[in-house]
Amino acid sequence: MDRARHPDLVNDVDEVLITEEQIRAKVAELGAMLSRDYEGRTVVLVSVLKGSLPFMADLMRAISIPAQIDLMEVSSYGGTATETSGLVRILKDLSSSIDGRDVLIVEDIIDTGLTLNYLLRYLRGKNPRSLRICALLDKPARRLVEISIDYRGFTIPDKFVVGYGLDYGELYRNLPFIAVLKPEVYSAS
Ligand code: 5GP
Repeated sequence: MDRARHPDLVNDVDEVLITEEQIRAKVAELGAMLSRDYEGRTVVLVSVLKGSLPFMADLMRAISIPAQIDLMEVSSYGGTATETSGLVRILKDLSSSIDGRDVLIVEDIIDTGLTLNYLLRYLRGKNPRSLRICALLDKPARRLVEISIDYRGFTIPDKFVVGYGLDYGELYRNLPFIAVLKPEVYSAS
């Protein structure tokens, strides 16, 4: 079988770390918490493409207060399929000003923290009233810069995960759960 052309997604999965049901329950919990904390305000949810897309789509619908959304896309220079380099390039910037706004960054995963560290500095420079972070997954074992995560979904072990937006070689983003792939899938590239 040609894996690149005929990826058999589920057959490549070694272990499901977080199920669809667990994600759904956590998103509802985070949505309720955010609705309480931002009560009386309009929050601007800034999602970082592409990995955060499903999380953003689910989280925004779990928030009951007025919310606006904006999207950024970043990529890191160099690095490999499973390692970030820390040098970040903005591929898509915000479409509206966040000056004086309450901004919540909606992230899929925080690993070394280098990407978010860059984004935080960049967004702080745009003068928001507040700037907080909501991350679905936290992988603290590999952190290189200290990041204070205001809203955290799950803490996961030091494993390269896919699914629910997260990719390996741009595939597996459409799996509805968070999983680890079989070692031979990672070593095949
Ligand atoms: P950091 O800069 O914190 O090391 O990594 C940020 C980005 O690296 C994430 O937004 C994500 O795109 C990618 N990343 C980090 N860990 C993983 C992982 O376990 N699986 C996948 N698919 N991407 C990851």
